[in-house]
Amino acid sequence: MTEPTGGAIGVLTSGGDAPGMNAALRAVVRTALSRGVKVFAIYEGYQGMVDGGDRLRAMAWDSVGGIMQHGGTIIGTARCAAFRNREGRLQAARHLLEQGIDRLVVIGGDGSLTGANLFRQEWPSLIAELAAQGAITAEAAARHSQLAIVGLVGSIDNDFTGTDMTIGADTALHRITTALDQIGSTAASHQRTFVIEVMGRHCGYLALMSALAGTAHWVFLPEHPPEAEDWEAAMCEVLAAGRAAGRRHSTVIVAEGARDRNGNPITSERVRQVLEEHLKEDVRVSILGHIQRGGAPSAFDRWMSTLLGHAAVEHLLASTPDDEPQVIGLRYNRITHQPLMACVTQTRAVAEAIAAHDYERAMELRGGSFTEQYRILQTLIQTVPHPPRPGQRRLRLGVLTGGAPAPGMNTAVRAATRLAIDRGHVIVAINNGVDGLIEGQTQEFDWMNVHGWGSTGGSNLGTSRTVPAGADFAAIARTLEAERLDGLLLVGGWAAYQSALELYRRRAAHPAFDLPIICLPASISNNLPGSELCIGADTALNSIVEVVDKIKNSAVAARRCFVVEVMGGHCGYLALMSSLATGAERVYLNEEGVTLRDLQEDLERMTAGFSDGRRLSLLIRNERANPFYTTAFMAALFEQESQGLFEVRQAILGHLQQGGDPSPFDRIQATRLAARCVDFLIDQAEQGATTAALIGIVGGRIKLTDLVDMPDLMDAEHIRPKEQWWQELQPVVQRLAQPG
Ligand code: ADP
Repeated sequence: MTEPTGGAIGVLTSGGDAPGMNAALRAVVRTALSRGVKVFAIYEGYQGMVDGGDRLRAMAWDSVGGIMQHGGTIIGTARCAAFRNREGRLQAARHLLEQGIDRLVVIGGDGSLTGANLFRQEWPSLIAELAAQGAITAEAAARHSQLAIVGLVGSIDNDFTGTDMTIGADTALHRITTALDQIGSTAASHQRTFVIEVMGRHCGYLALMSALAGTAHWVFLPEHPPEAEDWEAAMCEVLAAGRAAGRRHSTVIVAEGARDRNGNPITSERVRQVLEEHLKEDVRVSILGHIQRGGAPSAFDRWMSTLLGHAAVEHLLASTPDDEPQVIGLRYNRITHQPLMACVTQTRAVAEAIAAHDYERAMELRGGSFTEQYRILQTLIQTVPHPPRPGQRRLRLGVLTGGAPAPGMNTAVRAATRLAIDRGHVIVAINNGVDGLIEGQTQEFDWMNVHGWGSTGGSNLGTSRTVPAGADFAAIARTLEAERLDGLLLVGGWAAYQSALELYRRRAAHPAFDLPIICLPASISNNLPGSELCIGADTALNSIVEVVDKIKNSAVAARRCFVVEVMGGHCGYLALMSSLATGAERVYLNEEGVTLRDLQEDLERMTAGFSDGRRLSLLIRNERANPFYTTAFMAALFEQESQGLFEVRQAILGHLQQGGDPSPFDRIQATRLAARCVDFLIDQAEQGATTAALIGIVGGRIKLTDLVDMPDLMDAEHIRPKEQWWQELQPVVQRLAQPG
């Protein structure tokens, strides 16, 4: 083992640009500086390294201030032919050594990471050659005898094996989903069919997920060509049936690299011709192109990239150049590292399988969740459900939304309704949450009742915070009996969960409650048991980030401190994650508490910062961080004590956090969870079992937890889970927010 090198760190962005690269850059620079390591940004990717000179610039703390909200990469990116040759790499090595750099963070796609790996392997011979030429001293050659590298994957296509999400993919999905929502409304006005082409030469991730999130009616992917030889007829049949059922528009999504089973490209133009010929419809093509790459990064791309950049530097500092190079990614909702070249090889294997027409292998390499989502989409795009099988028992499944509204509730109800009906069962929709269950406000839903529900915020069923008590139980039992329900799905927040538990506990007194029950977590606060993520929280985070961007813009002229209050009840998820995503310098959580001493220290730190020329301070406070030190109190305290050095403004974001159309992530997860809930209720009812459970996403996977375990998992006083995975991220906020 060699000792860790002591050289400076260089960071570059390379290949295609991706929103979120700036957040990663900021985190790399600030983590390095906070660890006392010199850090250089290398402008224009490998080209900058080959060119040298002022393309390599030492970064200070403030060099990366105020950049997270910008798309693209502020240090530029390029494709560089010269770096593909040894001569170019020799120049690059010389320029790095001029600045004492022997550790690199490379943010790019598989090409960029392959280049980095080659460079690292060649490094000793490049150094020897430079020393022999006299371009570097023998001492420099000895001091920087090896190059350490670490990779982060920047690519909007999400086409890399080794991370669940690449930097930029979530933002691209936002762009596409917004476009689909917008095109949907104009298309519906004219009863048009739209063919939308999205990026993805070898990877159908954007096409598939945007089809799910944007409720498209047909999709073409590179890795899963249509099964039917005559795909034209198969597609036209489904779209024509949709029209007959009353759909006002049809949407077909085509991935750039879509193909048929024989490997012939299926272009958006070809799809348009087919539809026009066969359906005699007004068909328009929209190629979304570079719009997908641009614009402000989503909340997810900001917080994930921040964590990745931070972890990349920590990894470089903890490893030795002998260690196998790693790529830092997100696996099952946690930051992980994996061997870089093994990931590159796997990534390329998908493209190779597609080229060899081995589509089964391509789908297998994409992983189980991709295949599962494809299957769900196949059902949802149907216009008419499969008829029940002869003699099949038709189950009656109730569905309600409870608790505070959360974006994604409608998406979940839509998916549950269609997937259950398609399997020959009956959905009984219950209005107004538990109130509707008490009062018998029920309605049998058919396929088209949930038309258009995939993309809308709020709850179309209506929701309430009621938890049953006293005489309510007998009333609920009457509703369940009158409707002859075989299973119950509660989509919602704490009130829905508690209601389910209360029913469960009274099974002995009310036999009607002895039916399969499942709760699906939907709460912007992300405070429910049995799931690391709740539907609605991602949308709320995006709403917060958007508003904070505007708030920051408003502070250009004055020295100003903002105290921003976000929701969450006693749960600090929104506060902490929005702090990571906005670069707030301080977050106040109920979990940690707030003391007068804390406020005093924060004030001193801000005073020092503003005296040093700083113009903006952003503090995020959870609404229940402390009952006495309210947002207004804190703002008044800081303003008074600033003695005119800076102004303080408070911004209480309020209910805008609960509204808005669900984000693509919330739509996709809502659909995925609803599908499993329907499977669960049907399996239970068919077996005559009556388990009551909570569904959730744990470690990136869907997990069921027994409802009886709920009290053990919860801190009931504060309505939040006892264990909250995200709390360990808090030190990163502090590390990146303030020097020293
Ligand atoms: P991406 O990183 O997005 O896959 P590219 O494949 O275009 O994008 O790679 C970006 C840059 O990385 C290239 O222009 C080149 O400078 C460098 N690069 C890519 N592949 C190699 C390689 N095999 N050897 C050396 N450098 C490479």
